[in-house]
Amino acid sequence: MSKIKKLQKLLESKEITCAELTERYLQNIERQNKTINAYIKVTAEEALETAKKVDEKIAAGEKLMPLEGIPMSLKDNISTKGIETTCCSKMLQGYCPIYDASVWESLKNQNSVLLGKTNMDEFAMGSSCETSIFGVTLNPRNTDYVAGGSSGGAAASVAGDMAVFGIGSDTGGSIRQPASFCGLVGFKPTYGTVSRYGLIAYASSLDQIGPITGSVEDAAIIYDCLSSYDPKDSTSVGSKTGTRDKIKDSIKGMKIGIIQEFFDGINKDVKSSLEEAIRVYQDAGTQIVPFEMPKLNAVLPVYFIISCAEASSNLGRYDGIRYGYTSDAYKDINEMICKNRSEGFGKEVQRRILLGTYALSSGKYDAYYKKAQSLRYSIIRDFKKIFENCDLILTPSVPVTAYKKGQALVDPIEIYMMDICTVPANIAGLPAVSVPCGFDENNLPIGMQLIGNNFEDYKVLNAAYQFEKLTGESFLRPEVEI
Ligand code: GLN
Repeated sequence: MSKIKKLQKLLESKEITCAELTERYLQNIERQNKTINAYIKVTAEEALETAKKVDEKIAAGEKLMPLEGIPMSLKDNISTKGIETTCCSKMLQGYCPIYDASVWESLKNQNSVLLGKTNMDEFAMGSSCETSIFGVTLNPRNTDYVAGGSSGGAAASVAGDMAVFGIGSDTGGSIRQPASFCGLVGFKPTYGTVSRYGLIAYASSLDQIGPITGSVEDAAIIYDCLSSYDPKDSTSVGSKTGTRDKIKDSIKGMKIGIIQEFFDGINKDVKSSLEEAIRVYQDAGTQIVPFEMPKLNAVLPVYFIISCAEASSNLGRYDGIRYGYTSDAYKDINEMICKNRSEGFGKEVQRRILLGTYALSSGKYDAYYKKAQSLRYSIIRDFKKIFENCDLILTPSVPVTAYKKGQALVDPIEIYMMDICTVPANIAGLPAVSVPCGFDENNLPIGMQLIGNNFEDYKVLNAAYQFEKLTGESFLRPEVEI
């Protein structure tokens, strides 16, 4: 059931004021954030000011816009004018953007109540929030485990009832993986349908903004509000709205593709939950169609070469001169830039910048970057072919469940490999959602991923919504009384 709709009903019927609702969320943050570390900055004053405006509108009998009065969080790589935006890096500590990201502008125009900025891996590079200078974000389901990453703070803010929804970014799975680890819905829309203007770039050809929510319907409501053409983003294409109306359509006769390679070597509990999910879809009258994707083993090398190459270029702007971290002592400009960058960026970010610079360097460009680009296009072609014969592809969201605290730091390469299921949708710009579909032996959530063809975001959310209904919402977190 849509929490957004439910709360708006309470607001409009005056059972609760927006100020009271906001206070309750702020109290939850106060109580839990010390342990969970979902927020790195709480914007209580701004939140209460917005709530006051909403209450005035309600008192005047005005109708609320779809996200009006709803308390929410923003990942700390989304620019917020006048509010510190750090990407959880020493490089940007103290940096206050002078403009708003387009997504935040839309939300602000709707009077969504911003509760604060959420924790993330430094510059969105990571899978556990452990590369953040603010430290790890724990999983509200079980605090021995991480919330995931890089949008771990966004997911934990929702899972810990510290926000109704969180806005995150996804370059290789950063919305879907933490949603999967926290038992939530995480939606990465088709590339270009939600503006990236004001999103601090990691890898521009892969980055996409999207919501983390407690239900599919909420994700559809948010997507309808955020997806529109934005002239400020040169890759913006906009989209048709009305997704929310289409999610309730029947899925009978829908063709769901299964690619065996996605299931090889995955955790046994993840596997059995996914098999059960496939049965649920079969019983609902969908047709399950098997496919092969031999190039799946090229997906991670392609992702890491392209994302690191783009990161090396995007992060080239941080010289610490006009803004950002400046070292205390240096003898000349070269040493200054060198020290600013080596002291301002953490280890993981430096590793990726170096790797990307290497892949783009003359002599290595053909062997790495060009090869990765050509493989990228053949993967895109493979997807196109598959989508000629099916509507959606069903995979695990992640081959495993949440990592234990500290685990991702021990063997980063092993953790990179766990992005295998999420990365393909970024490489091909496809819409993909993670929906909760079970629990492992430790009672940690398991996520199922549905990938759709370009601009068929509504189909992805339609099948996800029907799964939620068919399983009696049994994998969603219990509703907390407001
Ligand atoms: N975990 C992936 C990585 O480390 C994805 C990150 C992302 O989507 N921002 O690159």
